[in-house]
Amino acid sequence: MSPTPAEVPPAQPVPPEGPVQPEGSPEARPAPGFPTGTSPGTPTGRSPGTSDVLVVGGGIIGLVTAWRAAQRGFTTALADPAPGGGAAQVAAGMLAAVTELHHGEQTLLGLNLASARRYPDFVAELTGATGQDLGYRRCGTLAVALDADDRAQLRELHALQRRSGLASEWLSGRECRRLEPMLAPGVRGGLRVDDDHQIDPRRLAAALVTACERAGVTFHRQRAERLTVTAGRATGVVTADGTGLSAGQVVLAAGSLSGCLAGVPEDVLPPVRPVKGQVLRLAVPERAAPFLSRTVRAVVRGSHVYLVPRENGELVVGATSEELGWDTTVTAGGVYELLRDAHELVPGITELPLTETRAGLRPGSPDNAPLLGPSGLPGLLLATGHHRNGVLLTPVTGDVLAHALTTGGLPDVARPFTPARFSAPAPMEQPA
Ligand SMILES: Cc1cc2nc3c(=O)[nH]c(=O)nc-3n(C[C@H](O)[C@H](O)[C@H](O)COP(=O)(O)OP(=O)(O)OC[C@H]3O[C@@H](n4cnc5c(N)ncnc54)[C@H](O)[C@@H]3O)c2cc1C
Repeated sequence: MSPTPAEVPPAQPVPPEGPVQPEGSPEARPAPGFPTGTSPGTPTGRSPGTSDVLVVGGGIIGLVTAWRAAQRGFTTALADPAPGGGAAQVAAGMLAAVTELHHGEQTLLGLNLASARRYPDFVAELTGATGQDLGYRRCGTLAVALDADDRAQLRELHALQRRSGLASEWLSGRECRRLEPMLAPGVRGGLRVDDDHQIDPRRLAAALVTACERAGVTFHRQRAERLTVTAGRATGVVTADGTGLSAGQVVLAAGSLSGCLAGVPEDVLPPVRPVKGQVLRLAVPERAAPFLSRTVRAVVRGSHVYLVPRENGELVVGATSEELGWDTTVTAGGVYELLRDAHELVPGITELPLTETRAGLRPGSPDNAPLLGPSGLPGLLLATGHHRNGVLLTPVTGDVLAHALTTGGLPDVARPFTPARFSAPAPMEQPA
């Protein structure tokens, strides 16, 4: 699973030090000794360079894990050259459990819904802890069809949603345009889904960094170079500058790079791959507001396109889905396709200023669902593979990992997402 050197992205530049918690600061929880390598369950304090929990990767998934671990009383450290970066800097932030339902993904639906239900309280708690507005908008979503094929596909999705007990309403083209007057006259029908909301993932990431700092998480702004394994147990990492960090439990949350950490035994490496997505950002001037009042999405000639309107006037248009390794080049073709498809849906977008083009990497797994909790290596837990739903799954992931760090097991909601589902079956015993 390890990539060849040519496939591995260049090392990220180390950003200037921000207001991070100094190692061994007075805020780090003092506590009696808790020898490295003991089992999960008892939070305690440690000397500098050691912690109860060490999280590798400071995207939204690593950050929420570290925040929740620190809240449970674990001394917690996080290693990442650029915490708060990662895919959240590109993601649209749709919280789309209902419109992202796909055939064969009903198990994932349960986890998506569990996270969607947590969102209002999660946002209130994170906003309360940081004083930061997360751009959470309970605006709903309209999924529309542009031709007869799209309409048949959308009807199928509607039937699947209803069989799954989800709330969505079929609308005629005229009813769609009454809700969203900027839609193209050719829209043939659509699904109104009032429970699929949105959040601004950049604000979410920034708030999680602040929440971690305030909860006493120690940031090591370094790449983890290698996992250290002692007597068959994960005991920490060595960072790119050669520093050894030890911990009672290590959580691997390195997004699309989670399958590349040296030192992780081959059979434990998560089967995670990068899935490239290109996204555009446009600005809706005040005279054109409200351009759209909710997320609008469609499948145009087989490609998914969505427009996510933020309250601050930003309009996010996404996203391509490309299997190109760790390439994050924004291409003329990608931008062209997104603009072409979005224009078919909402012709007026060509009048809006284009403010940003960017590509990011979704951490894809073989079944499009995350890998959560204890791995096959004692002391190593996984929180990765969230693919196209990582923003949606942030609240439930934090709770699941806090549970796993405390008890060593998974709560019911997360049992289907154990990393063990990808382990090779034990070889059959041969008759003597
Ligand atoms: C175009 C696009 C659109 C999306 N839209 C949505 C959406 O609308 N809704 C939704 O729910 N989700 C969406 N997603 C998915 C979501 O953004 C991701 O699933 C989520 O951000 C993944 O978070 P992560 O923390 O697991 O990984 P990442 O964000 O990739 O973060 C991983 C972190 O690990 C660090 N790292 C890597 N290797 C190491 C190492 N060796 N040592 C230390 N640190 C390391 C990196 O620096 C990075 O900060 C979208 C993604 C993309 C790309």
